[in-house]
Amino acid sequence: MDSSETIIVAGAGIWGCTVARVLAEAGRQVEVWEKRPVTGGNVRCETDEKTGIEVHTYGSHIFHTHLPEVWEFVNRFVRMNGYQHKVLARHDGKTYFLPLGLTLVNAFFGVELKPSELPDFMRDEAHSKAIFDAFFRNYTSKQWGKAPEEIDPTIIKRVPVRATYDVNYFNDYWQGIPESGYNSLFERLLDHPNIKVTTGKTFRLEDLGEKTVFYSGPIDELFGFKFGPLPWRTLRFETERLPIADAQGTSVVNYVDADVPYTRQHEYKHYHPEQKSVMEHPETIVCREYSAAWQPGDEPYYPVNNEESAALLSRYQAEAANHPKLVVGGRLGAYKYFDMDKSIEAALNTARQYLEENK
Ligand code: UDP
Repeated sequence: MDSSETIIVAGAGIWGCTVARVLAEAGRQVEVWEKRPVTGGNVRCETDEKTGIEVHTYGSHIFHTHLPEVWEFVNRFVRMNGYQHKVLARHDGKTYFLPLGLTLVNAFFGVELKPSELPDFMRDEAHSKAIFDAFFRNYTSKQWGKAPEEIDPTIIKRVPVRATYDVNYFNDYWQGIPESGYNSLFERLLDHPNIKVTTGKTFRLEDLGEKTVFYSGPIDELFGFKFGPLPWRTLRFETERLPIADAQGTSVVNYVDADVPYTRQHEYKHYHPEQKSVMEHPETIVCREYSAAWQPGDEPYYPVNNEESAALLSRYQAEAANHPKLVVGGRLGAYKYFDMDKSIEAALNTARQYLEENK
């Protein structure tokens, strides 16, 4: 194996940038090809000039992890602020704290349960059904276009259930948003003498030749959708500037009822409580998120994991396996509902395995 060959990393999202960095630090020459004009994939943000608000162009991204190695890796490049994610749910004219815990249950039923009493209370089917119907049924239908019974059960299990007053949305110990913004994370990951970045450059199968390629674009697109497109959910964002300092008092409010067409509203300034001048700026930016079925040409956001799509994915994966120097990964390549930390973990493992096998 020639360790001086140039490796192509196609796609500069979180998976591709991590792979590129690990390979570059191991002395490999890396060319990153990104089809968009900018790096960062869907974690890309734009800073609003007027207010200084970091707008998450592709919807809210909150970094959270329980993986020490991933946390340490990210902290080599950016300093994380102390943001801890809390999600509120607007139901029937009232606002509740998610996730499912003592705060929500006690407020919803008007009771004062102790931690030890919550499990039995929720084992009562009338109680669990009331909570599910209020907070999960309609939101899930809006998000996935299907009844909750019809979607992959692991999706709803992402939301923690706990018998405490802890209203942190994630169980992960480490959380935060890069103080210098998400874009700086990608710029710094790629800032290495062994990495050359070209934007506006799409990778196609005919570019593969004899090269080693780490590809994180859509796997079906790479093979010309020859078996048909993998299904996705797409999102539409309605962004609005408001002449008030604070519109909703928090970063995310889920609208869990059926009569509101959007799933949630984001107010991005709340992700940077350390930015005093931004927080106090007399204007704010909110963004309402709508979910829809994906059509070719739309931005793919959430893979629709079911038996049919798993079978289709296997066919594309078998096709990819015919190319021994092609490594496919990331959310679009692996067709996986990755959190950012899991994408970094996968990238670290994939790049290291490659280095181990190609000394
Ligand atoms: N969910 C829900 N109500 C909520 C929040 C979440 O029904 O208020 C369900 C919904 O099916 C969603 C899933 O739980 O797709 C996972 O939620 P999560 O907050 O992890 O979604 P993400 O932020 O990744 O879109």
